[in-house]
Amino acid sequence: MSGENKTAAKIFNYCPNCGTKTGRGVQICPGCAKTIGDSQYDGIPRIGAAGFGYSEITEHESFAAYNKSKKKIVTIAIPLIVLVLTIILSVIFGPAVGIVTGLFLLILMVIIALVQLRNKPSWEGTVVKKEHVHIKREGADRNTYTVKFNCADGKNRKQVWHSHSFIYDYLQEGDRVRYLGSISGDNAFEKYDKSQDESIPCACCGLAMDPRYTYCTICGALLLKGKAAQ
Ligand SMILES: [Zn+2]
Ligand SMILES: [Zn+2]
Repeated sequence: MSGENKTAAKIFNYCPNCGTKTGRGVQICPGCAKTIGDSQYDGIPRIGAAGFGYSEITEHESFAAYNKSKKKIVTIAIPLIVLVLTIILSVIFGPAVGIVTGLFLLILMVIIALVQLRNKPSWEGTVVKKEHVHIKREGADRNTYTVKFNCADGKNRKQVWHSHSFIYDYLQEGDRVRYLGSISGDNAFEKYDKSQDESIPCACCGLAMDPRYTYCTICGALLLKGKAAQ
């Protein structure tokens, strides 16, 4: 229904059939020997290819690999940011203040990173409300995309995105949705009924994918699909 043409979904960093990392410009997958590209799906309709019902696979090595690469970015970014701030503060306020503040920042950022990167519990629910707020602050656009869920465990949950609206556009009010704790992150959503979807979002990177694919061609994660529609 949505999500089409919004992404560079025609970039094949990974084979859509077996998930092998291929790199740009590779014609034949070294993992499964299929032609990289959409031609291998000729004659298979997109609509219905994502199936119906939640995926039976909830844990996968490609999810773990995606989470690991996310962690790697954080473990490199945090020391770098702290180092730069420590140097700046040392120059302005002297080395004692710089080092003490730097250490404090390091501990704070490690705690934030651990909270952000921990696996959250899985849950199921229904989309009850969508809100898009757009403001201009100091000339820059700032978007807040919020989806609210009524959950099976009686709790109300919400997910907020600032950097993209892929999942926000994809989910509609009334949709039955599952959140996968084994992936966590902002995009770990799977819709129950995907039988009419022309594109489905990757639960790891969030980009819209052709539902005939088995793997996300951008990040290599397994796509969450249901059983074949009757
Ligand atoms: Zn392959
Ligand atoms: Zn992906």
